[in-house]
Amino acid sequence: THCISSAASDVYKRQAVIGAGTMGNGIAHTFAQFNYKVRLIDVSKAALEKGLATITKNLDRMVAKEKISEADKEKTLSNISTFTSINDGVKNTSLVVEAATENAVLKAKIFKELDNACDEETILATNTSSISITQIAAVTSRPEKVIGMHFMNPVPIMKLVEIIRGYNTSDEVMRFTVDLSKKINKTPVEVNDYPGFVANRILMPMINESIETVYNDVAGVAEIDTVMKLGMAHPMGPLQLADFIGLDVCLSCLLYTSDAADDMQCVD
Ligand code: NAD
Repeated sequence: THCISSAASDVYKRQAVIGAGTMGNGIAHTFAQFNYKVRLIDVSKAALEKGLATITKNLDRMVAKEKISEADKEKTLSNISTFTSINDGVKNTSLVVEAATENAVLKAKIFKELDNACDEETILATNTSSISITQIAAVTSRPEKVIGMHFMNPVPIMKLVEIIRGYNTSDEVMRFTVDLSKKINKTPVEVNDYPGFVANRILMPMINESIETVYNDVAGVAEIDTVMKLGMAHPMGPLQLADFIGLDVCLSCLLYTSDAADDMQCVD
């Protein structure tokens, strides 16, 4: 708003992203393009360099398509700084989005570290595709400030952000995250913390069934993709999409969500 001092608004506009891989560099790119200062953090120096190179290449493509100007590209790049340590990177940030490797033990370790290193007010978001937000939040002393921000690949292009409310996520944090998503020109959709959330709960069984359909020799790969593209108006067939996501990622998502769903049934 007009009332906040420039110093306060600067802090408000500073974000950190953990992980410079496929999703992390896309998330950093998007925030930076909307003029947020972004600290991109990865344990691997090579991943940071590769992440920055990908952002530069994607910005070049946008300049070539006349979607942004050369000056916009330079400004976006100047908004990003890189760090190899969480401790150094996350001070004075309003939000941290974790987009490190999909592994529940690793995420628990990172969230403990974030909880210790971040300011009290900092909101901690995770881009996890399948791990429970409530479970991740439970390792911190601020579960009301932990939320899911599930971006889609490629982040600078895809409009959806699934916003996942954990068991303890506060209304204020939900509002902040929804507003912020709109500010970076995304469409946020609020969902609850169930295995696979909405996107992967529905998408992954479809991909699994498509693979089974090949296995049962119902039709070939191109035929299955064409049926779904022309018959259901999907922009890309499920098998092409599975390759795009990565079959290893699909498998771990299916295994995790079916285990987690079984666990939830036991609790019921
Ligand atoms: P990726 O393998 O491309 O990148 C992960 C990065 O995390 C690597 O650069 C790695 O060095 C870094 N990392 C590992 N441990 C770290 C630590 N302790 N601190 C800082 N960085 C660390 O993975 P990705 O595809 O970008 O996925 C990241 C997250 O986004 C996962 O939770 C995944 O489930 C989720 N996701 C992925 C997609 C997709 O299509 N790839 C879509 C939506 C959500």
